Amino acid sequence: MPENLMDKLVSLCKRRGFIFQSSEIYGGVGSVWDYGPLGAELKKNIKERWWRSMVHERDDIEGLDAAILMHPKVWEASGHVAGFTDPLVDCKQCKNRFRADDPRLKGTPGEPDARCPVCGNKGTLTAPRMFNLMFKTFMGPVEEAAAVVYLRPETAQGIYVNYLNVLQSSRQKIPFGIAQIGKAFRNEITPGNFTFRTREFEQMEMQFFVKPGDDGKWFEFWKHERLKWLHDLGIRPEKLRFHQHGKDELAHYAKDAYDIQYEFPFGWQEFEGIHNRTDFDLSRHQQYSGKKLDYLDPATNERFVPYVVETSAGADRTTLVAMLDAYHEEELEGEKRVVLRFKPALAPIKAAVFPLVNKDGMPEVAKRLYDDLRRRFNVFYDDGGSIGRRYRRQDEAGTPFGITVDGQSIQDQTVTVRERDTLKQERVAAAQLDDYLAGRLAS
Ligand code: ATP
Repeated sequence: MPENLMDKLVSLCKRRGFIFQSSEIYGGVGSVWDYGPLGAELKKNIKERWWRSMVHERDDIEGLDAAILMHPKVWEASGHVAGFTDPLVDCKQCKNRFRADDPRLKGTPGEPDARCPVCGNKGTLTAPRMFNLMFKTFMGPVEEAAAVVYLRPETAQGIYVNYLNVLQSSRQKIPFGIAQIGKAFRNEITPGNFTFRTREFEQMEMQFFVKPGDDGKWFEFWKHERLKWLHDLGIRPEKLRFHQHGKDELAHYAKDAYDIQYEFPFGWQEFEGIHNRTDFDLSRHQQYSGKKLDYLDPATNERFVPYVVETSAGADRTTLVAMLDAYHEEELEGEKRVVLRFKPALAPIKAAVFPLVNKDGMPEVAKRLYDDLRRRFNVFYDDGGSIGRRYRRQDEAGTPFGITVDGQSIQDQTVTVRERDTLKQERVAAAQLDDYLAGRLAS
């Protein structure tokens, strides 16, 4: 059976050190993944680009890094204690567990006509039961109800509860936003599809506080900006689309919501959302904390609780999208070449330096070049195996440039630069390499 793209990517991720299963030597832990040397760089590059475009390049957004553990009342106010639940269905026969909205479920779970999609038995599915997705733990030494705290299931609440602190300390005026990157945890019922749905993941969220009435305009603005950001990341536009939430999908407090979907090998799925959350969150925190969170508009002297337009992206899902979109296979000199065509700015390694052979002064020159370049770029030195094999390893890592020091380099201080996608080779003066790479890596 031909392997599908997901299987190929999972195996490449392990082989090259992008992503490993958590606690693998103990048999792994369900739907938790670790980023290896290349994956850590890739995900960091994506997060840095997000931070740059959301925080550094804008005057009206401030950054925040709130704690994972929060006062338990936060989650009552946010609605998570009462409502962050998924209905789940169990098969009594094979013990598999499904979300009640799993499209593979046919018939009515709990009724004799329903068939288990895994073992195929009829009448073995339980009626849906509600299951809260928050991880609970205890603060302090005593494991009692009063000490329960939650691992945050989203980063947004850290922003809401700090809204006044940021507003006052940064001297921002509405409209303005707060951006944050951080871990979130959800005890998902049916995790899977590699890093698509995991129990521990990272979010990149931005909450933009606006005057009620201006929310529609800002919602359109952020929809447009976020799609543009993904295009700039190099994701193929034809693989991206918006999906507007219908009445049945929309959270009760939300006025409008769009998912940005990517065409994954397992179908079109969300990896970022833009939501108009109205004044729900700040009003609830005002109510539960007893602290005023309204805003006095200095221009009009009006008081109002701001509306929030949120952009909520998963760093792991975006990283998965970047890898799937970059994955290519082609025939080269009668062999299969696997190449990750990352945009250079995203690539974990920017260039690899190779001595053609390990003699005649080539390693010394190549090492010197490598030491020069590493001060500015994440570069890699490789002198193991044939030059073809070394190129192929870097293709799989998505390294945009291969720099080879050969016999001619010793004579005239030039090197060969091989371009990953076009396979074009050109000779460049070693002294010019720094600028040559900087120019090509900027995008
Ligand atoms: P889904 O319907 O897929 O569970 P959601 O609508 O609950 O997602 P949000 O609460 O809007 O997702 O979270 C925003 C983003 O956080 C998602 O678009 C996704 O990128 C990321 N995310 C949410 N849950 C997970 C998860 N279990 N694993 C990885 N990323 C996640």
